[in-house]
Amino acid sequence: MANPPMEDFARRLRPSTLEGIQSATVGRVRERVRLLPFVFADVEAARTQAASIKDEVLADLGGNLVRFEAACLKHGIQVHWALDAARAREIVLDLASRAEGRLVVKAKSMVTEEIHLNAFLEAAGFEVVETDLGEYVVQIDGDHPSHIVAPIIHKTRYEVARSFAQKGLGPYTEDPGELTLQARARLREKFRTASIGISGVNFGVVESGRLVLVENEGNSRLSTTAPSIHIAIMGIEKLIPREADLPLFLRLLAGSATAQRMTTYVHLISGPRREDESDGPREVHLVLLDNGRSAIRSGPYRDVLRCIRCGACLNVCPVYRQASGHAYRHPYSGPIGAVLTPLLEGLEKMGDLARASTLCGACEEVCPVKIPLPHHLLRLRDEAARQGLAPKGIPWSRFASVADEPPMWRSGLTLLPLASGLSEKGWSEVRAAPRREGRPFRRWWDERS
Ligand code: SF4
Repeated sequence: MANPPMEDFARRLRPSTLEGIQSATVGRVRERVRLLPFVFADVEAARTQAASIKDEVLADLGGNLVRFEAACLKHGIQVHWALDAARAREIVLDLASRAEGRLVVKAKSMVTEEIHLNAFLEAAGFEVVETDLGEYVVQIDGDHPSHIVAPIIHKTRYEVARSFAQKGLGPYTEDPGELTLQARARLREKFRTASIGISGVNFGVVESGRLVLVENEGNSRLSTTAPSIHIAIMGIEKLIPREADLPLFLRLLAGSATAQRMTTYVHLISGPRREDESDGPREVHLVLLDNGRSAIRSGPYRDVLRCIRCGACLNVCPVYRQASGHAYRHPYSGPIGAVLTPLLEGLEKMGDLARASTLCGACEEVCPVKIPLPHHLLRLRDEAARQGLAPKGIPWSRFASVADEPPMWRSGLTLLPLASGLSEKGWSEVRAAPRREGRPFRRWWDERS
């Protein structure tokens, strides 16, 4: 396993970027703490209930998926199964190729980032336009999202302003309202002419077969209703059993992600346009993506699949705040990325991410579905060490042989004051080594007795 490049990313971040990430994440954490008690009489009980509902789904994931598929088919949603990313891309390409045009409008979706859908469709001759404002900025800059919920958390409005002016969206302005209007004017034209709309899915309701999408901008609504074909891509873990569970999850997601009681838009999609309806897509397709999730479900990391992608664990993570999302080298960043990415991509390739944590436990405390992320990070580190993938660290075996021999231990203690002055490369570059204070414990103990 290569040494983690995370520290290099952190060192290369410009002070303005770092400052932006820190103030945005700290602000979100504060707002979340302030809001949740107003939304839930008992926040802990709500989190426990949500975790247990997701566990209920995961316990019989196969059965729930079959029931969900049947409910979708009943009202005209065509269901496709994809074992891996390559199959999902092929399905989407096949469906998109049936449309009259080659223009695709896309709503914000982490799962499409996971399968690298844009590059694939573009290589096949399609024009793919991101319609979420943050994702659009990332796209025209040839950049990548750096946060699950806030894709341009790493950019300042001045950078966005420069980029819009360079790309000819309108005259240079630093006014966020004006910038939004410029993007809107460009995107409206795309919505009007696109023949394919692609989205993710926040929740799939097993009992009703409805696809639930949440957003704040209205672009998902246009992406899923204006084009004649809507293709939704959903990780197989995104199910919830009943419609009655929706209010809990919608409030937990909005509260944890953006400190809102409810997102501005909640879309409940139950199939294509009906005979008597004047708008909406003529076809709705759902691609159910496995891509390693079944394997995760059958192992010790199953509860990672409870994740509702709220991003709260990113906002609270001291490593994310120092390094930014790009340091994780994958669409899923922060603590959830540090666990999920090695599971999806392999320990050998991405196992170093599990070391990108102070194990402070803040991520688990804020997670709305109570995923024990620090526990999983430790387990991944242990697995990496057992497979010989961990980097050489402190030689604990030598420490153990000294600690096991009282005479050696005592002479070691006499040398301890010297150790305070030693500096270890890497460690002391960014930290002050603790200074030894007071008397040795043994002497204190002897004097006391
Ligand atoms: S792990 Fe928990 S806190 Fe992090 S994104 Fe998923 S649901 Fe949110």
